[in-house]
Amino acid sequence: MPNHLPLVFDAPARGKAPKHWLDFDVPERRAAMESFGLPAFRADQISRHVFDSLSDEVTTWTDLPAAIREDLAEQLFPPLLTQVRRLTADRGRTVKTLWRLHDGSLLESVLMRYPNRSTLCISSQAGCGMACPFCATGQGGLKRNLSRAEITVQAFAANRMLAAGEVPGATGRLNNIVFMGMGEPLANYKAVLGTIRTLIAPVPGGFGMSARGITVSTVGLVPQIGRLAGEGLPVTLAVSLHAPDDDLRNEIVPVNNRWSVAEVVDAAWEYARVTRRRVSIEYALMRDINDSIARANLLADVLKRRGDWGWVHVNLIPLNPTPGSRWTASRPEDEAAFIATLERRGVPVTLRDTRGSEIDGACGQLAARETAGV
Ligand code: SAH
Repeated sequence: MPNHLPLVFDAPARGKAPKHWLDFDVPERRAAMESFGLPAFRADQISRHVFDSLSDEVTTWTDLPAAIREDLAEQLFPPLLTQVRRLTADRGRTVKTLWRLHDGSLLESVLMRYPNRSTLCISSQAGCGMACPFCATGQGGLKRNLSRAEITVQAFAANRMLAAGEVPGATGRLNNIVFMGMGEPLANYKAVLGTIRTLIAPVPGGFGMSARGITVSTVGLVPQIGRLAGEGLPVTLAVSLHAPDDDLRNEIVPVNNRWSVAEVVDAAWEYARVTRRRVSIEYALMRDINDSIARANLLADVLKRRGDWGWVHVNLIPLNPTPGSRWTASRPEDEAAFIATLERRGVPVTLRDTRGSEIDGACGQLAARETAGV
């Protein structure tokens, strides 16, 4: 990798999160009971409170010996998230929460309620080291990796909001989770995988979600895409391509200087082949940057190299302009021509709705504003 690139793959340990129940897998939970002088079955009791009843108020868990509840609360259930701000849009159906972590780091998660499902967009890092110039989070750099518990607790908090009736029209639990909040999930691989395992473990061992409802979005870290393919988990992969040629992608997705368009597309194709899951290619349309008909054709060429279209679909995202940046959304006619070109070429394509853009719904903008004090 050229050494001028501002990429950070291993976040500094600074600000390490306190240990929490949600950091553990099932055997670790049982082992943790020992340090409290409790039999292993107590771990399942605790999990039922957490994943079934969505409770973290340890002192109210009267089926546990009173003498240990306080220690347990202190040592394994420290508060992880403090709500800084909550904004709603779309008549209450999009809820964006800005959270503060114990060390002052900020993170965002966005809950989106659709007619028959709820999706949560979560953060995997405080900040991001990938330095994409159009992304608000990318501009602030990486602060640190989030712990497994700090990622998982975002789903816990959203499920509680749904259960408490705080989102109009919504009942039940989260159906989908997308790792499209702050951070590069595959640069925090171990914690993200741990979170996925907790999300899909059946209740009461975890949230009992379907792996198919979970989408990991990556800037294109090729070795980690291969590693994820080997996990045997049918999670959906989204790859943030944004340009079909290396010249442009080197500029707008700097990690492309390390893994080229061809390498990233090959890794995505291999992921689809191994997991039998259709890969989503993310493409944020940026005015006069990547939205020409020529690039739409080039995108079709790049994806077509793999034969039929069953393995992939393109998800176009209208760019959400970040304050003061030169990057902005495509003109409607260019957007339409780009879509028409892909359709003519037979590429499966959808245009993402822009839920919550009026509440800085995308991409670290709320955290950036908080940090700047505006
Ligand atoms: N680091 C991961 C996931 C987080 S970003 C990744 O790169 O995929 C989720 C998606 O939002 C990515 O496709 C990202 O490129 C895109 N994105 C970032 N800033 C944006 C903006 N201002 N407008 C539209 N999409 C943006």
